[in-house]
Amino acid sequence: MAAILAVGGAVLDIVNVVAAYPAEDSEVRAERQAVRLGGNAANTLAVLAQLGHRCAWSGVWADEPDGRRIVADLQARGIQTGPARRLAGGKSPTSYITLSRATGSRTIVHHRDLPELSAADFEAVDVAPYDWVHLEARPNAGDIPRMIRHVRRHSPRARISLEVEKAREGLEHGLHDPDVVLFSGDYARGQGYADPEGFLRGLDPATVPGIKVCTWGSAGAAAVDNAGRLHRTPAFPPARVVDTVGAGDTFNAGLIDALARARSLAEALEAAARLAGRKCGREGLDGLT
Ligand code: ADP
Repeated sequence: MAAILAVGGAVLDIVNVVAAYPAEDSEVRAERQAVRLGGNAANTLAVLAQLGHRCAWSGVWADEPDGRRIVADLQARGIQTGPARRLAGGKSPTSYITLSRATGSRTIVHHRDLPELSAADFEAVDVAPYDWVHLEARPNAGDIPRMIRHVRRHSPRARISLEVEKAREGLEHGLHDPDVVLFSGDYARGQGYADPEGFLRGLDPATVPGIKVCTWGSAGAAAVDNAGRLHRTPAFPPARVVDTVGAGDTFNAGLIDALARARSLAEALEAAARLAGRKCGREGLDGLT
């Protein structure tokens, strides 16, 4: 199994399950509420840990009750938090999620008032033990090239993946050096594309030379390998879509897991879509394996 470090968000998710998504300015009662660990990097690690990898998280956490809860939850999953930066005071990032039982859709209002992990913070992390480092293009996307240089210098064997969920300033310089770039469908649609193949074909190989992947919700995902070949997987829908929160993070974990086990990109793409589909059929990220 691989030693994997993920760098990015760990968040408190407050999930309200409603029968159907409410109309604006209406008042509805939640059928159930769950308060649980969330955030892209934390979710991906929660799945990778279940798949048997040795996992660690780096990011910023606020030393207040919610932040301590986030860290305790990561640790309870066997995810090391030593590489993370503790901030005395501050406020933990929180996602307020409305989960529709009718469709499984999740509508998210996110609040964050906490600094991002800077390149200087990351340079203090000992990355030598890791076989794989997964980064998130967050508002500090301009720091990504420096973070990648730190990994290449101190853990030359490590493979590097970068998740791109939204357009970020300075991001274009960070796309060149990762081994794998994972784009969200939202990002591709924001660039004007109507399908993942068109988006991936539209990327300049000189700007994004590594493996490129793009997810597309219930339409599955596509990828382009190092030789420029396109691969496609359908989605694998569960009998009933219950909860799509973290489907993309689960997909990313499935892809990293398969590539870390030296499976081909085509196999990894399908394995990731199967795992993400299974996730959509259950609430939360536990018990996936
Ligand atoms: P995100 O969670 O980041 O919005 P997507 O919605 O693109 O990401 O979903 C990521 C992956 O999860 C998809 O590529 C697909 O394999 C799987 N997935 C998402 N929604 C469904 C669904 N309704 N049924 C089956 N699989 C799904």
